[in-house]
Amino acid sequence: MTKGALLYEGKAKKLYETDHADRLIHFFKDDATAFNAQKRGSITDKGVVNNKVSAHLFQLLEGGGVPTHFIERLGDREMLTKRVSIVPIEVVVRNLVAGSLAKRLGLKEGDEIEPPLVEFFYKNDALGDPLITEDHIRLLNLAEPSVVHELKERALQVNTLLLPFFRERGMVLVDFKLEFGLHNGTLILADEISPDTCRFWDQKTRESMDKDRFRKDLGEVEEAYQEVLRRVCGEGRPG
Ligand code: UDP
Repeated sequence: MTKGALLYEGKAKKLYETDHADRLIHFFKDDATAFNAQKRGSITDKGVVNNKVSAHLFQLLEGGGVPTHFIERLGDREMLTKRVSIVPIEVVVRNLVAGSLAKRLGLKEGDEIEPPLVEFFYKNDALGDPLITEDHIRLLNLAEPSVVHELKERALQVNTLLLPFFRERGMVLVDFKLEFGLHNGTLILADEISPDTCRFWDQKTRESMDKDRFRKDLGEVEEAYQEVLRRVCGEGRPG
């Protein structure tokens, strides 16, 4: 597979075309942003961790019956994927109260959410990715009602598959964000699943092992990413 022209550069990834019209290469950067890119920085080797962790989780999910865009990992920072048309909706699943949910509804951080909660956010940087309802999705014509139904079912299926995987590794999967795309009319999981897009707490200490360490200046950011790599893939630098 030959790398072609740069198609798009996002906050954390670069997307390249390939010599195959239906295949893209994702390059994972170390750049980190938070609060709608008001806070910027870099996390050493974040790109390596996110690429490897995402590849591992996509393969796990495929095995569990969730179609994904993942084809193969090409190296430390790159993966080959199917080309999709991204649905402009971020799907968030929550098992414990944290982040924007705690702020928005005045709920206590760390309280359990049973059954898990699914939220939709409009993927629009200029608007700051606002929370939207199914009626807003219809108003904005972002996706067909049948697709919205499938987004929710798929997101809950991903949660059901990931919860025990992380539990076995001493991690609490607090919440996470998914993005989906349409590929030949079929909805498939896209983007990444990594410490940038999930909240993980250590089961024993309840300490954050994810991008919250960067968002909140908690320190030991790189160490936390390496620890996630170690627990998910069984590799990483000694901590
Ligand atoms: N998230 C993400 N990208 C975003 C917003 C949120 O990956 O643009 C993830 C975030 O890492 C967390 C989950 O989605 O795992 C829920 O985030 P929340 O709505 O609480 O927003 P935050 O507090 O991160 O602003």
